[in-house]
Amino acid sequence: MGNKTLAIIKPDAVKRNNIGQIIAMITEAGFKIKGLRMTRLSKESAMKFYEVHKERPFYGELVEFMTSGNCVPIALEKENAVAEFRKLIGATDPAQAEEGTIRKKYAASKAENAVHGSDSDENASIEIAHFFAGESLL
Ligand code: GDP
Repeated sequence: MGNKTLAIIKPDAVKRNNIGQIIAMITEAGFKIKGLRMTRLSKESAMKFYEVHKERPFYGELVEFMTSGNCVPIALEKENAVAEFRKLIGATDPAQAEEGTIRKKYAASKAENAVHGSDSDENASIEIAHFFAGESLL
């Protein structure tokens, strides 16, 4: 199992001014921040990032949401990072998310759900490269 994952604080959470609280939950859970920036995704970049979902009925809405404002991609490190981070963020739909998870606290809906977390080691590498290509993350 790998030790890296890619988190994104999504535009809804950035707009609600929850960046600081979410980062605090991430670091308190033992993740190390290896890379961090704020950016607004272009349509092309968001479409590429979510290419795996292109056949899903909500793909267009997802791309629109993810380009609606700034987001904060963060490269994270921890043992078993992918699974550990998905545990910390909780279920996709905040109504199903467990107490103490980031989505339970900060997500408004299944679509606007505050944070992204990679779903496999392979995707973590691809997604970290999407935002931090050409940078050496120590
Ligand atoms: P995740 O791995 O928990 O983020 O969930 P998925 O891989 O299933 O979906 C990716 C992202 O698409 C979610 O985090 C949501 O932002 C969005 N999403 C999921 N389901 C829906 C939906 O039914 N409608 C819309 N508009 N967006 C959705």
